[in-house]
Amino acid sequence: MVPSATSMPASPSATPTQECPLCGERMRRKDLELVDLIPGTGEAKPRKVSEWVCPECDYFEEIEKEEKGR
Ligand SMILES: [Zn+2]
Repeated sequence: MVPSATSMPASPSATPTQECPLCGERMRRKDLELVDLIPGTGEAKPRKVSEWVCPECDYFEEIEKEEKGR
């Protein structure tokens, strides 16, 4: 077995950035978990969402995730 020297990429390319539509500031991505209450059944359905949060004006925008398999 030969240990291969792998170099980690410095900047992850899978992290896109988004600018705030209100003030143009670069927004930060924030992951959180919301709970959807289903009306009539009393069930609570947790789901993970991501949203962009602007540090300047508190504007936030939910990120639509494309999840496969459901
Ligand atoms: Zn803003």
